[in-house]
Amino acid sequence: MAAEPQPQLSEAQIAVHWREEDYYRPSAKFVAQANAGDPAIIERFGEEHFPECFREYADLLTWDTYWHTTLDTSRPPFWKWFVGGRLNACYNCVDRHLATSRNKAAFIWVPEPEDQDTRTITYQELYRRVNEFAALLRGFGGVDTGDRVTFHLPMVPELPVSMLACARLGVIHSEVFGGFSGTACGDRIADSGSRVLVTMDGYYRGGTLVDHKAKADEAVAAARKLGQEVDKVLVWRRHPGQYASKSPMVEGRDFFVDEILADYRGHSVEPVSMPAEAPLFLMYTSGTTGRPKGCQHSTGGYLAYVAGTSKYYQDIHPEDTYWCAADIGWITGHSYIVYGPLLLGTTSVLYEGVPTYPDAGRCWRIAERLGVNIFHTAPTTIRMLRKVGPHEPSNYDYHLKHMTTVGEPIEPEVWRWYHDEVGKGEAAVVDTWWMTETGGFLGSTLPALQPMKPGSCGPGVLGIYPVIYDEDDNVVEAGSGKAGNICIRNPWPGVLQTVWGQPDRFVDIYYRRYCKDQDSTDWRDWPFLCGDGAVQAADGYFRILGRIDDVINVAGHRLGTKELESATLTVAEVAEAAAVPVMDELRGRAVEMYVALNPGLAPGPEIEQKVAAAIEREIGKIARPRNVWIVPDMPKTRSGKIMRRVIAGISNFADVGDVTTLANPEIVDDIRHHVQSAK
Ligand code: ATP
Ligand code: MG
Repeated sequence: MAAEPQPQLSEAQIAVHWREEDYYRPSAKFVAQANAGDPAIIERFGEEHFPECFREYADLLTWDTYWHTTLDTSRPPFWKWFVGGRLNACYNCVDRHLATSRNKAAFIWVPEPEDQDTRTITYQELYRRVNEFAALLRGFGGVDTGDRVTFHLPMVPELPVSMLACARLGVIHSEVFGGFSGTACGDRIADSGSRVLVTMDGYYRGGTLVDHKAKADEAVAAARKLGQEVDKVLVWRRHPGQYASKSPMVEGRDFFVDEILADYRGHSVEPVSMPAEAPLFLMYTSGTTGRPKGCQHSTGGYLAYVAGTSKYYQDIHPEDTYWCAADIGWITGHSYIVYGPLLLGTTSVLYEGVPTYPDAGRCWRIAERLGVNIFHTAPTTIRMLRKVGPHEPSNYDYHLKHMTTVGEPIEPEVWRWYHDEVGKGEAAVVDTWWMTETGGFLGSTLPALQPMKPGSCGPGVLGIYPVIYDEDDNVVEAGSGKAGNICIRNPWPGVLQTVWGQPDRFVDIYYRRYCKDQDSTDWRDWPFLCGDGAVQAADGYFRILGRIDDVINVAGHRLGTKELESATLTVAEVAEAAAVPVMDELRGRAVEMYVALNPGLAPGPEIEQKVAAAIEREIGKIARPRNVWIVPDMPKTRSGKIMRRVIAGISNFADVGDVTTLANPEIVDDIRHHVQSAK
């Protein structure tokens, strides 16, 4: 097997320029009610207490059999957590809450269009629906413990119902984001070896009913090409009894779930007691870079980790109304819409639609109507909401105690808008840095104990000990102002167990680069490579610069794309910004900025000049962009991340690569035309 290309910092230690931001502190009211209010918790998770400190997280779960070994390191880096323990994920998320909270809302589903009523799914109703679907999967679907089932489902309650039904049976679920193509779904079906696909006929997006079932046909065909047969396609109907797709149902292969379920009404299934180390699900990485990898997450370790981080970092209490406006098709949704909130017995809001449809007030109306008090979203959504309705939140009567951001570095300008306008200055904000592979947060702040600092995610979270290495394997000291590769020195319960079916690739990608001794069974010799560039300030807070390949080297100066974008966003007219490198004869690389403006503003040279001046002021002359291009929109992935690779391709007159995972592929030609005709 060809070795994975290893990330490279092209210069060993080069100063990063940025301005340290001021701290913000939460209100006394927030601190008084916080789950983590006593600083002793930080002590309890100190390195001298590793790995036993994680017992505290595992004790948030209900075990059928308690474990005998907290961490087994005998076969690095295939760590085993809570060995000897047995439990069931569905029991922990649903059954155990029935005694006290049977009729409490587990989920509140907000469907589209807006005139539709919200639906409340109580823990009791969730229990019924999960049991019936589990009985169907086992009886009709023919799946058994250890099998894989692929879902291609949108943001509907049927998605968590399907996940929990699999978990009840010890079946490994693999959800493919609903917005992905049939082919992308087929690749993942084949990779995971699923014989059953669970999908839906259609769903609402931006006010229209989208035909989704057609993608299932493409998916089955794509999987077949790769040698994997799908026996059954189980089709949930968005409106039971009516079929919303034009795609014909294939006799003997496709079945309407609502019809088959009639045979399983009132059935229940004993939760299968699984070893802590049994895989719970696969989550394929989003594919911003390289071929997707099936990250395999465990049952005991993963659940312990998401329960603990949800409790202490999201500050979830059972009586909260918690809304994570991500898609369950991403790891954020698995960990922090479904598993984390349900483990803690809270109420989790599911929203089918897009945040800005039909207008900029939609999210705030939902927050007002449902009494949401914890809100969680991504910088891309925050930027979009700020662009379309900068003062919209003040029109609604809602009050948040806590807000989270995840997915990309957040520019301090955007952070402040989130804090001041969305949070009305009342909410504690946590920036959570992590990735698909890590199951839960890696870098963040304990909201009552560690002050917020816009643009920095914070120190390593409880029990996570990060380190930054340079290209020569030296540790980059905090406060040195130098950037490097951020790694995690220790194993933790949420880390992926392996890449499904590719154990060598797993070792290669995450552990080869900084492994100190391949024969060692001491975890200290096996740092986990996160793949992000970062700097650590003297206060221990990390500032994430983006993926290692998102760093631009201008005449030996390492400029994070995020620093450039943050500087650009200080210009009031700018809504979104992307920095890309272009070839430059003199300096090796130069910077080009792509900018989208706030609505109603016309492009013009004065804005271009303001952007260049802001970058010069905030970062330095060296970073002055060669061009500032004002474009109507940025090419984005379905999860809302700007595809800098595509823009860089245009800027350099090069191939833009695969654009099939873009949410808005049509923008590519627009930008190309605009830029290349002007160059
Ligand atoms: P792929 O690995 O498939 O190329 P991806 O890395 O975008 O795609 P995710 O696991 O969804 O897939 O995203 C994780 C990445 O997102 C991190 O490596 C980091 O670059 C970025 N990220 C996530 N949260 C934050 C945050 N709070 N601050 C800065 N960057 C973040
Ligand atoms: Mg990644």
